Amino acid sequence: MLDERHLLFKVATGTTYIYRKVALASPWEIPAGYAAGSPTLVQKKNGWEVHIPLFLQERRDLRPAAALMQDKDIRILAVDLGLNHHAVMTIQDAEGRVLATEFISGAKDSHLRKQYLERIVRLQKETGIIPEGERFAKDLWDKVKNLVGDIAHQVSRRIVDLAAQHGAKIIVFEHLKNLRPEKGTRSHRMNQKLGYWVKGRIFQYTQYKALHQGIIVCRVNPRDTSRRCPNCGLLSIERYLPGKPHGVTLAQCSNCGLHGVHADWLATRNIGQKFRLRYA
Ligand SMILES: [Zn+2]
Repeated sequence: MLDERHLLFKVATGTTYIYRKVALASPWEIPAGYAAGSPTLVQKKNGWEVHIPLFLQERRDLRPAAALMQDKDIRILAVDLGLNHHAVMTIQDAEGRVLATEFISGAKDSHLRKQYLERIVRLQKETGIIPEGERFAKDLWDKVKNLVGDIAHQVSRRIVDLAAQHGAKIIVFEHLKNLRPEKGTRSHRMNQKLGYWVKGRIFQYTQYKALHQGIIVCRVNPRDTSRRCPNCGLLSIERYLPGKPHGVTLAQCSNCGLHGVHADWLATRNIGQKFRLRYA
């Protein structure tokens, strides 16, 4: 390693090594809190890429959740990951009051993902070959994979930024429910599977981005988070949407009369409540 613009590489040529100096298109920098490992050269279709592994240095200032929850001014961010929305987030105080809400729409990405998958399924039908390992479908699969990675990076970035913005010290997710095979077309099922994959990635990426900012990430059991009424505590939530007989976007309570709230928003309140009860 020479400076921020040049790197020195040891290249194997048969039985000996030569050294090659490489000039970078843009200077590289190590983000605060990370240490860089040894860079490697990777040959790509359109040229060479320099890959520099980054290691997160240990943070000793992180306090465990139980200690943080003793603070009556604690703020948490509760997240519900969905398909129509990538994420619905609420900032909550120690009493469960909602101080801020944000939705990240997923409709556009989900549509694009579905289009790619439909093309993959079509290729499969035409040829009778499972295209996953086939070269002609590989470009499509790569696109889907990149899309999933991009979504996970953007969404996790926004989750951590919102937490930092409101001084939330803990981000709470729910554990992923078991993936149940659903009825529908093949591409619909694949889309479902990919949605599950996206959620896992978002959690993973959020974890390391949050750690870097001194925010901890926890998970609660997903049981009943969309069925329990956060106001009266009963399992009396029904989903509906005016004008749509099978709509599930909104939630109402048949016991206390709560109505007109977004179902995923309601889930974040239950996620926050479950988390608080753990330390009450
Ligand atoms: Zn109720």
